[in-house]
Amino acid sequence: MTTRTVVIFSGGLDSTTLLYDLKSAGHEVAALAVNYGQRHGCELLSAKAICQSINVELITLELKGLAQIFGHNSLSNANVTVPTGTYEPDSMQQTTVPNRNMILLSLATGWAISHDYQAVAFGAHSGEYTPYPDCRPEFAAVMDDAAQLCDWQAVRILAPFVNWSKADIVRRGSELNVPFEETWSCYVGGEKHCGRCGTCLDRKLAFETSGIKDPTVYESE
Ligand SMILES: [Zn+2]
Repeated sequence: MTTRTVVIFSGGLDSTTLLYDLKSAGHEVAALAVNYGQRHGCELLSAKAICQSINVELITLELKGLAQIFGHNSLSNANVTVPTGTYEPDSMQQTTVPNRNMILLSLATGWAISHDYQAVAFGAHSGEYTPYPDCRPEFAAVMDDAAQLCDWQAVRILAPFVNWSKADIVRRGSELNVPFEETWSCYVGGEKHCGRCGTCLDRKLAFETSGIKDPTVYESE
């Protein structure tokens, strides 16, 4: 039986590779994107273009009101400057949307239950630096348990990249012909990738480490 899977999708490199990976493994996929007031709203345009190009249903939830409860971090608060340089514990905290993955998994699980999907997938992976707490394997495991208990219909939570590095994801994406140039990572949200914020540096490093050519146009090298 084909597994019907909701993918939490941002239009970024990780979740785009996840979408391609599950499709190639035979899943019937649908994508969920959320506008939570992130300043890099351009990632939502990437999400739309990518889903159109591979004919995947995309629902973009308008939840800008979430920014009201996500006060002091730079992704959803325009008054906070996005830190430049590689991730350190301090700058990671500034770019953490509190409990984002649990919120997104919860929404996606609701969709899955309502529309007869058996699974929800998210693109958590391990990092070179302190991993985000809600990307850890232990977190994915307990969310999988919770999604099997929260309703009469059990849903599984899949995190196939949870032990991979971002370079591993780039390698897998390259095998799957993921259009990396259409994916968006930068947290600053300008016309081009800034090339200086933590997530741009992470993206660059993943291409360098993997030996795959980086097609991204950066504002500064
Ligand atoms: Zn950037």
